[in-house]
Amino acid sequence: MLRLSTLFLRTLRDDPADAEVPSHKLLVRAGYVRRVAPGIYSWLPLGVIVQENVATVVREEMNRIGSQEVHFPALIPREIFEESGRWAAYGDTLFRLKDRKDVDYLLAPTHEELFTLLVKGEYSSYKDYPLALYQIQTKYRDEARPRAGILRGREFVMKDSYSFDISHEGLEKSYRAHRDAYERIFSRLGFDYRIVFAVSGAMGGSASEEFLAPAPSGEDTFVQCTNCDYAANTEAVEIAAPQRHDPQDHPPQQVLDTPDTPTIDTLVERMRDLGHDTTAAATLKNVVLRTRAPGADAWELLVVGVPGDREVDLKRLAGQLEPVVVEQAGPEDLATQPGLVKGYIGPQALADLKVRYLVDPLVVEGSAWVTGANAEGKHAADVVRGRDFTPDGEIGAVEIRDGDRCARCGSPLEIARGIELGHVFQLGETYAKTFGLTALDQNGKPVTITMGSYGVGVTRAVAALAEQTFDEKGLCWPRIISPADVHLVATGKDDTVFAAAETLAAELEAAGVRVLFDDRRGVSPGVKFKDAELIGVPTIAIVGKGLADGTIEVRDRKSDECRDVPVADAAQAIVTAVRD
Ligand code: ATP
Ligand code: MG
Repeated sequence: MLRLSTLFLRTLRDDPADAEVPSHKLLVRAGYVRRVAPGIYSWLPLGVIVQENVATVVREEMNRIGSQEVHFPALIPREIFEESGRWAAYGDTLFRLKDRKDVDYLLAPTHEELFTLLVKGEYSSYKDYPLALYQIQTKYRDEARPRAGILRGREFVMKDSYSFDISHEGLEKSYRAHRDAYERIFSRLGFDYRIVFAVSGAMGGSASEEFLAPAPSGEDTFVQCTNCDYAANTEAVEIAAPQRHDPQDHPPQQVLDTPDTPTIDTLVERMRDLGHDTTAAATLKNVVLRTRAPGADAWELLVVGVPGDREVDLKRLAGQLEPVVVEQAGPEDLATQPGLVKGYIGPQALADLKVRYLVDPLVVEGSAWVTGANAEGKHAADVVRGRDFTPDGEIGAVEIRDGDRCARCGSPLEIARGIELGHVFQLGETYAKTFGLTALDQNGKPVTITMGSYGVGVTRAVAALAEQTFDEKGLCWPRIISPADVHLVATGKDDTVFAAAETLAAELEAAGVRVLFDDRRGVSPGVKFKDAELIGVPTIAIVGKGLADGTIEVRDRKSDECRDVPVADAAQAIVTAVRD
Protein backbone atom coordinates (compact mmCIF):
# COMPACT_ATOMS: atom_id res chain seq x y z
CA MET A 1 0.00 0.00 0.00
CA LEU A 2 1.21 3.47 -0.83
CA ARG A 3 0.48 6.03 1.89
CA LEU A 4 0.46 9.67 0.89
CA SER A 5 1.55 10.60 4.44
CA THR A 6 4.94 9.06 3.72
CA LEU A 7 5.11 8.72 -0.08
CA PHE A 8 8.00 10.68 -1.59
CA LEU A 9 5.73 12.98 -3.55
CA ARG A 10 5.07 16.68 -3.88
CA THR A 11 2.47 17.73 -6.42
CA LEU A 12 2.78 21.14 -8.06
CA ARG A 13 0.01 23.59 -8.74
CA ASP A 14 1.69 25.23 -11.75
CA ASP A 15 2.98 23.92 -15.02
CA PRO A 16 6.78 23.81 -15.29
CA ALA A 17 8.01 26.72 -17.40
CA ASP A 18 9.86 24.58 -19.95
CA ALA A 19 6.99 22.17 -20.63
CA GLU A 20 5.20 22.36 -23.97
CA VAL A 21 3.20 19.15 -24.21
CA PRO A 22 0.48 17.98 -21.80
CA SER A 23 2.25 14.77 -20.74
CA HIS A 24 5.33 16.73 -19.74
CA LYS A 25 3.34 19.27 -17.73
CA LEU A 26 1.24 16.65 -15.98
CA LEU A 27 3.97 14.10 -15.25
CA VAL A 28 5.98 16.86 -13.56
CA ARG A 29 3.02 18.42 -11.73
CA ALA A 30 1.74 15.05 -10.49
CA GLY A 31 5.20 14.16 -9.19
CA TYR A 32 6.10 11.27 -11.50
CA VAL A 33 9.30 12.79 -12.91
CA ARG A 34 11.68 15.69 -12.33
CA ARG A 35 13.90 17.32 -14.91
CA VAL A 36 17.66 17.21 -14.43
CA ALA A 37 18.78 18.66 -17.79
CA PRO A 38 17.23 18.89 -21.27
CA GLY A 39 15.95 15.42 -22.16
CA ILE A 40 17.23 13.93 -18.89
CA TYR A 41 14.84 13.07 -16.07
CA SER A 42 14.68 11.47 -12.66
CA TRP A 43 11.81 9.10 -11.97
CA LEU A 44 10.05 9.36 -8.60
CA PRO A 45 8.21 6.48 -6.88
CA LEU A 46 4.92 6.86 -8.79
CA GLY A 47 6.83 7.19 -12.07
CA VAL A 48 8.89 4.10 -11.36
CA ILE A 49 5.75 2.04 -10.75
CA VAL A 50 4.11 3.21 -13.98
CA GLN A 51 7.27 2.57 -15.98
CA GLU A 52 7.57 -0.90 -14.44
CA ASN A 53 3.95 -1.65 -15.31
CA VAL A 54 4.64 -0.86 -18.96
CA ALA A 55 7.80 -2.96 -18.87
CA THR A 56 5.87 -5.88 -17.38
CA VAL A 57 3.40 -5.97 -20.27
CA VAL A 58 6.26 -5.72 -22.77
CA ARG A 59 8.15 -8.53 -21.00
CA GLU A 60 5.13 -10.81 -20.87
CA GLU A 61 4.48 -10.44 -24.58
CA MET A 62 8.14 -10.89 -25.52
CA ASN A 63 8.37 -14.01 -23.38
CA ARG A 64 5.13 -15.28 -24.92
CA ILE A 65 6.72 -15.36 -28.39
CA GLY A 66 9.77 -17.13 -26.99
CA SER A 67 12.11 -14.16 -26.97
CA GLN A 68 14.68 -14.38 -24.15
CA GLU A 69 15.79 -11.49 -21.98
CA VAL A 70 19.43 -10.40 -21.91
CA HIS A 71 21.10 -7.20 -20.79
CA PHE A 72 23.88 -5.23 -22.43
CA PRO A 73 26.03 -2.40 -21.13
CA ALA A 74 25.25 1.12 -22.27
CA LEU A 75 28.95 1.97 -22.30
CA ILE A 76 30.60 0.53 -25.41
CA PRO A 77 34.09 0.82 -26.88
CA ARG A 78 34.43 2.72 -30.14
CA GLU A 79 35.88 -0.20 -32.17
CA ILE A 80 32.58 -2.04 -32.19
CA PHE A 81 30.73 0.90 -33.68
CA GLU A 82 33.68 1.65 -35.93
CA GLU A 83 33.30 -1.83 -37.42
CA SER A 84 29.64 -1.28 -38.25
CA GLY A 85 30.32 2.20 -39.61
CA ARG A 86 27.99 3.79 -37.07
CA TRP A 87 30.71 5.71 -35.18
CA ALA A 88 30.69 8.03 -38.22
CA ALA A 89 27.12 7.51 -39.43
CA TYR A 90 25.46 8.46 -36.16
CA GLY A 91 26.97 11.95 -36.28
CA ASP A 92 26.05 14.40 -33.54
CA THR A 93 23.36 12.14 -32.10
CA LEU A 94 25.96 9.82 -30.57
CA PHE A 95 27.21 10.52 -27.05
CA ARG A 96 30.98 10.00 -27.15
CA LEU A 97 33.40 9.88 -24.23
CA LYS A 98 36.91 8.80 -23.28
CA ASP A 99 38.25 6.64 -20.49
CA ARG A 100 41.30 7.45 -18.34
CA LYS A 101 43.61 6.01 -20.99
CA ASP A 102 42.13 8.33 -23.59
CA VAL A 103 40.34 5.45 -25.34
CA ASP A 104 37.08 6.34 -27.10
CA TYR A 105 33.76 5.02 -25.87
CA LEU A 106 30.13 5.75 -26.63
CA LEU A 107 26.80 5.49 -24.88
CA ALA A 108 24.74 3.19 -27.06
CA PRO A 109 21.80 4.63 -29.01
CA THR A 110 20.79 1.03 -29.94
CA HIS A 111 22.52 -2.34 -29.73
CA GLU A 112 22.54 -4.09 -33.12
CA GLU A 113 26.29 -4.60 -32.92
CA LEU A 114 26.28 -6.19 -29.47
CA PHE A 115 23.39 -8.54 -30.16
CA THR A 116 25.10 -9.72 -33.35
CA LEU A 117 28.44 -10.24 -31.65
CA LEU A 118 26.89 -12.03 -28.68
CA VAL A 119 25.10 -14.56 -30.87
CA LYS A 120 28.20 -15.02 -33.01
CA GLY A 121 30.17 -15.91 -29.90
CA GLU A 122 27.75 -18.61 -28.78
CA TYR A 123 26.10 -20.20 -31.81
CA SER A 124 27.48 -21.92 -34.89
CA SER A 125 25.00 -24.44 -36.34
CA TYR A 126 21.71 -24.08 -38.23
CA LYS A 127 20.23 -26.26 -35.46
CA ASP A 128 20.68 -23.36 -33.04
CA TYR A 129 18.22 -21.17 -34.95
CA PRO A 130 15.72 -19.47 -34.93
CA LEU A 131 16.56 -17.28 -31.95
CA ALA A 132 15.01 -14.12 -30.49
CA LEU A 133 16.61 -12.01 -27.75
CA TYR A 134 15.53 -8.79 -26.09
CA GLN A 135 16.53 -6.36 -23.40
CA ILE A 136 14.88 -3.47 -21.59
CA GLN A 137 17.63 -0.95 -21.21
CA THR A 138 18.64 2.68 -21.10
CA LYS A 139 19.59 4.31 -24.40
CA TYR A 140 21.42 7.54 -25.09
CA ARG A 141 20.85 9.85 -28.02
CA ASP A 142 21.87 13.47 -28.18
CA GLU A 143 18.58 14.46 -29.80
CA ALA A 144 18.60 17.79 -31.61
CA ARG A 145 15.34 18.93 -30.05
CA PRO A 146 14.58 17.21 -26.75
CA ARG A 147 11.55 19.42 -26.21
CA ALA A 148 8.70 17.09 -25.52
CA GLY A 149 9.80 15.91 -22.07
CA ILE A 150 9.74 12.16 -21.60
CA LEU A 151 8.45 11.72 -25.17
CA ARG A 152 11.87 12.55 -26.58
CA GLY A 153 14.58 12.03 -24.03
CA ARG A 154 18.31 12.11 -24.49
CA GLU A 155 18.35 9.26 -21.98
CA PHE A 156 15.39 6.92 -22.28
CA VAL A 157 14.38 3.30 -21.79
CA MET A 158 13.78 1.09 -24.81
CA LYS A 159 12.86 -2.53 -25.23
CA ASP A 160 14.95 -3.65 -28.15
CA SER A 161 14.84 -7.12 -29.57
CA TYR A 162 16.40 -8.95 -32.46
CA SER A 163 15.48 -12.11 -34.30
CA PHE A 164 18.03 -14.41 -35.91
CA ASP A 165 17.07 -16.78 -38.71
CA ILE A 166 18.82 -18.84 -41.34
CA SER A 167 16.33 -18.05 -44.12
CA HIS A 168 14.16 -15.20 -45.34
CA GLU A 169 11.05 -17.30 -44.67
CA GLY A 170 12.25 -17.65 -41.09
CA LEU A 171 12.74 -13.90 -40.83
CA GLU A 172 9.22 -13.29 -42.10
CA LYS A 173 7.83 -15.62 -39.46
CA SER A 174 9.83 -13.91 -36.71
CA TYR A 175 8.75 -10.50 -37.99
CA ARG A 176 5.11 -11.56 -37.95
CA ALA A 177 5.46 -12.92 -34.39
CA HIS A 178 6.90 -9.60 -33.20
CA ARG A 179 4.30 -7.59 -35.06
CA ASP A 180 1.56 -9.66 -33.41
CA ALA A 181 3.24 -9.24 -30.01
CA TYR A 182 3.34 -5.47 -30.54
CA GLU A 183 -0.36 -5.45 -31.37
CA ARG A 184 -1.02 -7.24 -28.07
CA ILE A 185 1.30 -4.90 -26.14
CA PHE A 186 -0.27 -1.70 -27.40
CA SER A 187 -3.83 -3.03 -27.10
CA ARG A 188 -3.23 -4.22 -23.54
CA LEU A 189 -1.67 -0.89 -22.59
CA GLY A 190 -4.86 0.80 -23.78
CA PHE A 191 -3.44 2.69 -26.73
CA ASP A 192 -5.30 3.94 -29.72
CA TYR A 193 -2.66 3.12 -32.34
CA ARG A 194 -2.06 2.74 -36.08
CA ILE A 195 0.41 0.54 -37.90
CA VAL A 196 2.02 2.54 -40.69
CA PHE A 197 4.49 1.72 -43.42
CA ALA A 198 7.89 3.17 -42.65
CA VAL A 199 9.53 2.28 -45.95
CA SER A 200 7.84 2.82 -49.25
CA GLY A 201 7.41 -0.04 -51.68
CA ALA A 202 9.11 2.06 -54.33
CA MET A 203 12.29 2.15 -52.30
CA GLY A 204 12.42 -1.63 -52.50
CA GLY A 205 13.30 -1.99 -48.83
CA SER A 206 12.34 -4.91 -46.65
CA ALA A 207 9.34 -4.73 -44.40
CA SER A 208 9.42 -1.86 -41.93
CA GLU A 209 6.41 -0.68 -40.00
CA GLU A 210 5.86 1.75 -37.17
CA PHE A 211 3.26 1.71 -34.44
CA LEU A 212 2.00 5.25 -33.95
CA ALA A 213 -0.27 6.70 -31.29
CA PRO A 214 -2.34 9.48 -32.88
CA ALA A 215 -1.93 12.60 -30.72
CA PRO A 216 -1.86 16.32 -31.52
CA SER A 217 1.47 16.62 -29.71
CA GLY A 218 3.05 13.87 -31.83
CA GLU A 219 6.24 14.76 -33.66
CA ASP A 220 5.59 12.29 -36.47
CA THR A 221 3.27 13.18 -39.29
CA PHE A 222 1.60 10.27 -40.95
CA VAL A 223 -0.84 9.86 -43.75
CA GLN A 224 -3.90 7.65 -43.76
CA CYS A 225 -6.38 6.84 -46.48
CA THR A 226 -9.96 7.92 -45.82
CA ASN A 227 -11.17 4.79 -47.60
CA CYS A 228 -8.80 1.81 -47.43
CA ASP A 229 -6.50 0.78 -44.58
CA TYR A 230 -3.36 2.25 -46.16
CA ALA A 231 -1.32 4.31 -43.69
CA ALA A 232 2.29 5.40 -43.93
CA ASN A 233 4.61 7.86 -42.31
CA THR A 234 5.35 10.88 -44.47
CA GLU A 235 8.83 9.59 -45.30
CA ALA A 236 7.37 6.44 -46.80
CA VAL A 237 4.05 7.54 -48.20
CA GLU A 238 3.32 6.98 -51.85
CA ILE A 239 0.67 9.09 -53.52
CA ALA A 240 -1.07 8.41 -56.80
CA ALA A 241 0.87 9.93 -59.72
CA PRO A 242 -0.91 11.54 -62.65
CA GLN A 243 -1.24 9.62 -65.89
CA ARG A 244 1.84 9.35 -68.11
CA HIS A 245 1.78 10.97 -71.53
CA ASP A 246 3.69 10.41 -74.70
CA PRO A 247 6.59 12.89 -74.48
CA GLN A 248 6.15 13.66 -78.20
CA ASP A 249 2.55 14.82 -77.66
CA HIS A 250 3.53 18.41 -76.82
CA PRO A 251 4.47 21.50 -78.82
CA PRO A 252 8.19 22.19 -78.95
CA GLN A 253 9.94 23.88 -76.07
CA GLN A 254 9.92 27.71 -76.27
CA VAL A 255 12.20 30.09 -74.39
CA LEU A 256 10.42 33.18 -73.01
CA ASP A 257 11.68 36.54 -71.79
CA THR A 258 10.68 36.72 -68.15
CA PRO A 259 12.81 39.39 -66.49
CA ASP A 260 12.57 39.79 -62.71
CA THR A 261 10.70 36.53 -62.10
CA PRO A 262 12.89 34.59 -59.69
CA THR A 263 9.91 33.18 -57.74
CA ILE A 264 6.96 31.03 -58.75
CA ASP A 265 4.49 33.83 -57.92
CA THR A 266 6.27 36.42 -60.06
CA LEU A 267 6.61 33.86 -62.86
CA VAL A 268 2.87 33.04 -62.84
CA GLU A 269 2.08 36.75 -63.00
CA ARG A 270 4.49 37.36 -65.88
CA MET A 271 3.12 34.39 -67.80
CA ARG A 272 -0.34 35.87 -67.42
CA ASP A 273 0.95 39.18 -68.86
CA LEU A 274 2.30 37.16 -71.76
CA GLY A 275 -1.15 35.70 -72.37
CA HIS A 276 -0.62 32.23 -70.84
CA ASP A 277 -2.90 31.19 -67.99
CA THR A 278 -0.17 29.18 -66.31
CA THR A 279 -0.89 28.13 -62.73
CA ALA A 280 1.78 27.53 -60.09
CA ALA A 281 0.98 23.83 -60.38
CA ALA A 282 2.04 23.87 -64.04
CA THR A 283 5.48 25.24 -63.26
CA LEU A 284 8.43 23.08 -62.36
CA LYS A 285 10.37 24.28 -59.34
CA ASN A 286 13.95 23.07 -59.05
CA VAL A 287 15.27 23.21 -55.51
CA VAL A 288 19.01 23.06 -54.92
CA LEU A 289 20.04 20.88 -52.01
CA ARG A 290 23.28 19.37 -50.88
CA THR A 291 24.00 15.84 -49.73
CA ARG A 292 26.85 14.17 -47.93
CA ALA A 293 27.48 10.44 -47.63
CA PRO A 294 28.62 9.12 -44.23
CA GLY A 295 32.33 9.65 -43.78
CA ALA A 296 32.63 11.84 -46.91
CA ASP A 297 34.36 15.22 -46.54
CA ALA A 298 32.62 17.09 -49.32
CA TRP A 299 29.02 18.01 -49.96
CA GLU A 300 27.52 17.18 -53.34
CA LEU A 301 24.82 19.19 -55.09
CA LEU A 302 21.41 17.63 -55.65
CA VAL A 303 18.58 19.35 -57.50
CA VAL A 304 15.03 18.16 -56.85
CA GLY A 305 12.14 19.01 -59.19
CA VAL A 306 8.60 19.45 -57.85
CA PRO A 307 5.45 21.15 -59.14
CA GLY A 308 5.70 24.89 -58.36
CA ASP A 309 2.70 24.93 -56.04
CA ARG A 310 4.41 22.42 -53.74
CA GLU A 311 7.11 22.69 -51.14
CA VAL A 312 9.96 20.21 -50.87
CA ASP A 313 9.64 18.19 -47.65
CA LEU A 314 13.22 17.89 -46.42
CA LYS A 315 12.30 15.43 -43.68
CA ARG A 316 10.66 13.15 -46.22
CA LEU A 317 13.76 13.33 -48.39
CA ALA A 318 16.04 12.72 -45.42
CA GLY A 319 14.09 9.59 -44.49
CA GLN A 320 14.64 8.14 -47.94
CA LEU A 321 18.25 9.22 -48.41
CA GLU A 322 19.45 8.10 -44.98
CA PRO A 323 22.29 7.55 -44.06
CA VAL A 324 23.18 10.21 -46.60
CA VAL A 325 22.54 13.64 -45.04
CA VAL A 326 20.57 16.20 -47.03
CA GLU A 327 20.04 19.91 -46.45
CA GLN A 328 19.27 23.15 -48.24
CA ALA A 329 22.23 24.35 -50.32
CA GLY A 330 23.70 27.74 -49.41
CA PRO A 331 25.25 30.50 -51.59
CA GLU A 332 28.69 28.89 -51.15
CA ASP A 333 27.40 25.64 -52.67
CA LEU A 334 25.78 27.46 -55.59
CA ALA A 335 29.05 29.31 -56.17
CA THR A 336 30.73 25.98 -56.99
CA GLN A 337 28.41 25.58 -59.97
CA PRO A 338 28.08 28.87 -61.94
CA GLY A 339 25.88 27.10 -64.51
CA LEU A 340 23.04 27.16 -61.97
CA VAL A 341 21.32 30.54 -62.36
CA LYS A 342 19.47 31.25 -59.14
CA GLY A 343 15.75 31.71 -59.77
CA TYR A 344 16.01 30.44 -63.34
CA ILE A 345 17.21 26.85 -62.96
CA GLY A 346 15.75 24.39 -65.46
CA PRO A 347 16.45 20.65 -65.76
CA GLN A 348 17.42 20.97 -69.43
CA ALA A 349 21.01 21.82 -68.52
CA LEU A 350 21.57 19.71 -65.42
CA ALA A 351 22.85 16.60 -67.18
CA ASP A 352 25.52 18.66 -68.97
CA LEU A 353 26.46 20.32 -65.71
CA LYS A 354 26.75 16.84 -64.15
CA VAL A 355 24.43 17.86 -61.33
CA ARG A 356 22.34 15.01 -59.94
CA TYR A 357 18.65 15.61 -60.64
CA LEU A 358 15.72 13.79 -59.05
CA VAL A 359 12.04 14.54 -59.57
CA ASP A 360 8.97 13.87 -57.50
CA PRO A 361 6.75 11.18 -59.10
CA LEU A 362 4.18 13.96 -59.73
CA VAL A 363 6.60 15.12 -62.44
CA VAL A 364 5.54 12.12 -64.46
CA GLU A 365 7.08 10.90 -67.71
CA GLY A 366 5.67 12.92 -70.64
CA SER A 367 4.50 15.88 -68.50
CA ALA A 368 5.16 19.41 -69.83
CA TRP A 369 6.26 22.30 -67.62
CA VAL A 370 7.08 25.97 -67.49
CA THR A 371 10.49 26.12 -65.87
CA GLY A 372 13.78 28.00 -65.78
CA ALA A 373 15.83 28.31 -68.96
CA ASN A 374 19.17 28.51 -67.12
CA ALA A 375 19.75 32.16 -68.04
CA GLU A 376 19.00 35.31 -66.03
CA GLY A 377 15.46 36.51 -66.77
CA LYS A 378 14.53 33.55 -68.97
CA HIS A 379 12.06 30.71 -68.59
CA ALA A 380 10.97 28.00 -70.99
CA ALA A 381 7.51 26.59 -71.67
CA ASP A 382 6.62 23.06 -72.78
CA VAL A 383 9.69 21.52 -71.24
CA VAL A 384 8.83 17.83 -71.33
CA ARG A 385 10.15 15.03 -69.16
CA GLY A 386 11.45 12.26 -71.42
CA ARG A 387 11.98 14.66 -74.32
CA ASP A 388 13.75 17.79 -73.05
CA PHE A 389 15.19 16.31 -69.89
CA THR A 390 15.65 12.94 -68.26
CA PRO A 391 16.04 12.95 -64.48
CA ASP A 392 18.51 10.63 -62.75
CA GLY A 393 15.60 9.13 -60.83
CA GLU A 394 12.46 9.75 -58.81
CA ILE A 395 12.10 10.48 -55.11
CA GLY A 396 8.97 11.33 -53.14
CA ALA A 397 9.84 14.94 -52.36
CA VAL A 398 6.68 17.03 -52.11
CA GLU A 399 5.06 17.97 -48.85
CA ILE A 400 1.98 15.76 -48.68
CA ARG A 401 -1.36 17.57 -48.49
CA ASP A 402 -4.75 16.60 -47.22
CA GLY A 403 -6.62 15.40 -50.28
CA ASP A 404 -3.65 13.91 -52.14
CA ARG A 405 -4.77 10.61 -53.61
CA CYS A 406 -4.04 7.16 -52.18
CA ALA A 407 -1.74 5.15 -54.46
CA ARG A 408 -3.72 2.01 -53.63
CA CYS A 409 -7.33 3.05 -54.11
CA GLY A 410 -7.32 6.64 -55.37
CA SER A 411 -9.33 8.01 -52.43
CA PRO A 412 -8.28 11.20 -50.63
CA LEU A 413 -5.56 10.88 -48.00
CA GLU A 414 -5.58 12.75 -44.72
CA ILE A 415 -2.68 13.89 -42.61
CA ALA A 416 -2.51 13.21 -38.89
CA ARG A 417 0.04 13.54 -36.11
CA GLY A 418 1.28 10.72 -33.99
CA ILE A 419 3.88 9.51 -31.53
CA GLU A 420 6.09 6.62 -32.62
CA LEU A 421 5.61 3.91 -30.01
CA GLY A 422 7.43 1.10 -31.69
CA HIS A 423 9.12 -0.04 -34.83
CA VAL A 424 9.40 -3.48 -36.43
CA PHE A 425 11.97 -3.83 -39.14
CA GLN A 426 13.50 -6.55 -41.29
CA LEU A 427 17.13 -5.70 -40.91
CA GLY A 428 18.33 -8.55 -43.12
CA GLU A 429 21.98 -9.52 -43.36
CA THR A 430 23.61 -6.10 -42.90
CA TYR A 431 25.00 -6.62 -39.41
CA ALA A 432 25.48 -10.36 -39.81
CA LYS A 433 27.69 -9.71 -42.84
CA THR A 434 29.66 -6.96 -41.12
CA PHE A 435 30.40 -9.09 -38.08
CA GLY A 436 30.53 -12.47 -39.85
CA LEU A 437 27.55 -14.05 -38.10
CA THR A 438 27.05 -17.31 -39.98
CA ALA A 439 25.82 -20.82 -39.24
CA LEU A 440 26.80 -24.10 -40.83
CA ASP A 441 23.89 -25.62 -42.77
CA GLN A 442 23.06 -29.34 -43.19
CA ASN A 443 25.88 -29.70 -45.69
CA GLY A 444 28.42 -27.97 -43.49
CA LYS A 445 28.37 -24.83 -45.63
CA PRO A 446 28.22 -21.42 -43.91
CA VAL A 447 25.07 -19.34 -44.41
CA THR A 448 24.70 -15.73 -43.30
CA ILE A 449 22.13 -15.16 -40.58
CA THR A 450 19.28 -12.77 -41.37
CA MET A 451 18.03 -10.48 -38.62
CA GLY A 452 14.98 -8.54 -37.59
CA SER A 453 15.06 -5.51 -35.30
CA TYR A 454 12.19 -4.47 -33.06
CA GLY A 455 11.93 -1.54 -30.64
CA VAL A 456 9.42 -0.20 -28.13
CA GLY A 457 9.94 3.07 -26.29
CA VAL A 458 9.13 2.13 -22.69
CA THR A 459 9.52 5.59 -21.14
CA ARG A 460 7.97 7.15 -24.22
CA ALA A 461 4.96 4.82 -23.83
CA VAL A 462 4.34 6.27 -20.35
CA ALA A 463 4.23 9.80 -21.75
CA ALA A 464 2.29 8.78 -24.85
CA LEU A 465 -0.39 7.11 -22.73
CA ALA A 466 -0.61 10.29 -20.68
CA GLU A 467 -1.04 12.24 -23.94
CA GLN A 468 -3.88 10.02 -25.11
CA THR A 469 -5.76 9.84 -21.82
CA PHE A 470 -5.33 13.10 -19.85
CA ASP A 471 -8.21 15.52 -19.29
CA GLU A 472 -8.53 19.06 -17.96
CA LYS A 473 -8.13 17.82 -14.37
CA GLY A 474 -4.99 15.80 -14.82
CA LEU A 475 -3.67 12.36 -15.68
CA CYS A 476 -6.18 9.60 -16.26
CA TRP A 477 -4.39 6.26 -16.49
CA PRO A 478 -5.64 3.03 -17.98
CA ARG A 479 -5.76 0.66 -15.01
CA ILE A 480 -3.06 -1.66 -16.31
CA ILE A 481 -0.32 0.93 -15.95
CA SER A 482 -1.80 3.08 -13.18
CA PRO A 483 0.36 3.27 -10.03
CA ALA A 484 -2.65 1.94 -8.08
CA ASP A 485 -6.14 0.54 -8.67
CA VAL A 486 -7.84 2.81 -6.21
CA HIS A 487 -7.00 6.20 -4.70
CA LEU A 488 -8.59 6.07 -1.28
CA VAL A 489 -9.13 9.48 0.28
CA ALA A 490 -9.90 10.05 3.96
CA THR A 491 -11.20 13.58 4.58
CA GLY A 492 -11.96 15.70 7.62
CA LYS A 493 -10.65 15.67 11.16
CA ASP A 494 -12.72 12.87 12.57
CA ASP A 495 -10.76 9.87 13.92
CA THR A 496 -13.63 7.51 13.09
CA VAL A 497 -13.30 8.52 9.42
CA PHE A 498 -9.61 7.68 9.41
CA ALA A 499 -10.24 4.42 11.27
CA ALA A 500 -12.93 3.39 8.76
CA ALA A 501 -10.62 4.29 5.88
CA GLU A 502 -7.81 2.21 7.44
CA THR A 503 -10.12 -0.78 7.70
CA LEU A 504 -11.27 -0.39 4.10
CA ALA A 505 -7.67 0.00 2.88
CA ALA A 506 -6.67 -3.21 4.66
CA GLU A 507 -9.66 -5.11 3.24
CA LEU A 508 -8.86 -3.94 -0.27
CA GLU A 509 -5.24 -4.86 0.04
CA ALA A 510 -6.19 -8.31 1.30
CA ALA A 511 -8.37 -8.70 -1.82
CA GLY A 512 -5.37 -7.95 -4.04
CA VAL A 513 -6.37 -4.39 -4.90
CA ARG A 514 -3.45 -1.95 -5.24
CA VAL A 515 -4.24 0.96 -2.93
CA LEU A 516 -2.92 4.51 -2.89
CA PHE A 517 -4.16 5.78 0.47
CA ASP A 518 -4.41 9.50 1.19
CA ASP A 519 -4.09 9.20 4.97
CA ARG A 520 -2.67 12.69 5.43
CA ARG A 521 -3.96 14.56 8.47
CA GLY A 522 -4.51 18.30 8.30
CA VAL A 523 -4.76 18.51 4.53
CA SER A 524 -7.99 20.03 3.22
CA PRO A 525 -10.48 17.89 1.27
CA GLY A 526 -10.16 20.27 -1.69
CA VAL A 527 -6.41 19.70 -1.91
CA LYS A 528 -6.86 15.94 -1.54
CA PHE A 529 -9.46 15.77 -4.33
CA LYS A 530 -7.30 17.89 -6.63
CA ASP A 531 -4.32 15.62 -6.00
CA ALA A 532 -6.42 12.54 -6.69
CA GLU A 533 -7.57 14.00 -9.99
CA LEU A 534 -4.06 15.06 -10.96
CA ILE A 535 -2.41 11.73 -10.09
CA GLY A 536 -4.90 9.91 -12.29
CA VAL A 537 -5.68 6.59 -10.57
CA PRO A 538 -8.81 5.24 -12.35
CA THR A 539 -10.98 4.69 -9.26
CA ILE A 540 -11.29 7.17 -6.41
CA ALA A 541 -12.96 6.22 -3.11
CA ILE A 542 -13.79 8.88 -0.53
CA VAL A 543 -14.35 8.19 3.14
CA GLY A 544 -15.67 11.45 4.59
CA LYS A 545 -18.94 13.21 5.27
CA GLY A 546 -21.01 10.30 3.98
CA LEU A 547 -19.75 8.07 6.77
CA ALA A 548 -22.27 9.65 9.17
CA ASP A 549 -25.00 8.13 6.93
CA GLY A 550 -23.03 4.89 6.63
CA THR A 551 -21.81 5.45 3.05
CA ILE A 552 -18.56 5.78 1.11
CA GLU A 553 -18.31 7.51 -2.24
CA VAL A 554 -16.86 5.60 -5.20
CA ARG A 555 -15.98 7.69 -8.23
CA ASP A 556 -14.73 6.82 -11.69
CA ARG A 557 -11.86 9.16 -12.51
CA LYS A 558 -12.55 9.18 -16.24
CA SER A 559 -16.34 9.42 -16.48
CA ASP A 560 -16.70 11.20 -13.13
CA GLU A 561 -19.59 8.85 -12.41
CA CYS A 562 -20.07 8.64 -8.69
CA ARG A 563 -22.16 6.60 -6.30
CA ASP A 564 -22.60 6.18 -2.58
CA VAL A 565 -22.03 2.66 -1.34
CA PRO A 566 -22.92 1.34 2.14
CA VAL A 567 -19.75 0.93 4.21
CA ALA A 568 -20.32 -2.79 4.57
CA ASP A 569 -20.40 -3.25 0.76
CA ALA A 570 -17.66 -0.76 -0.08
CA ALA A 571 -14.77 -3.20 -0.36
CA GLN A 572 -16.77 -5.53 -2.61
CA ALA A 573 -18.01 -2.64 -4.76
CA ILE A 574 -14.45 -1.40 -5.27
CA VAL A 575 -13.12 -4.87 -6.02
CA THR A 576 -15.83 -5.21 -8.68
CA ALA A 577 -15.05 -1.79 -10.17
CA VAL A 578 -11.34 -2.65 -10.27
CA ARG A 579 -11.86 -6.05 -11.92
CA ASP A 580 -14.16 -4.63 -14.61
P1 ATP B 1 12.11 8.85 -33.66
O1 ATP B 1 11.81 8.83 -35.12
O2 ATP B 1 10.94 9.24 -32.79
O3 ATP B 1 13.36 9.59 -33.31
P2 ATP B 1 13.47 6.40 -34.00
O4 ATP B 1 12.90 5.98 -35.30
O5 ATP B 1 14.79 7.02 -33.96
O6 ATP B 1 12.42 7.36 -33.25
P3 ATP B 1 14.00 3.71 -33.14
O7 ATP B 1 15.44 3.79 -33.33
O8 ATP B 1 13.16 2.94 -34.08
O9 ATP B 1 13.41 5.19 -32.99
O10 ATP B 1 13.73 3.28 -31.63
C1 ATP B 1 12.69 2.39 -31.23
C2 ATP B 1 11.72 3.08 -30.30
O11 ATP B 1 12.38 3.79 -29.25
C3 ATP B 1 10.90 4.16 -30.98
O12 ATP B 1 9.81 3.58 -31.66
C4 ATP B 1 10.48 5.04 -29.83
O13 ATP B 1 9.31 4.51 -29.21
C5 ATP B 1 11.63 4.93 -28.87
N1 ATP B 1 12.48 6.14 -28.93
C6 ATP B 1 13.32 6.50 -29.91
N2 ATP B 1 13.94 7.66 -29.63
C7 ATP B 1 13.47 8.04 -28.41
C8 ATP B 1 13.73 9.16 -27.54
N3 ATP B 1 14.61 10.10 -27.87
N4 ATP B 1 13.08 9.22 -26.36
C9 ATP B 1 12.21 8.28 -26.00
N5 ATP B 1 11.92 7.20 -26.76
C10 ATP B 1 12.54 7.08 -27.95
MG1 MG C 1 11.96 4.23 -36.09
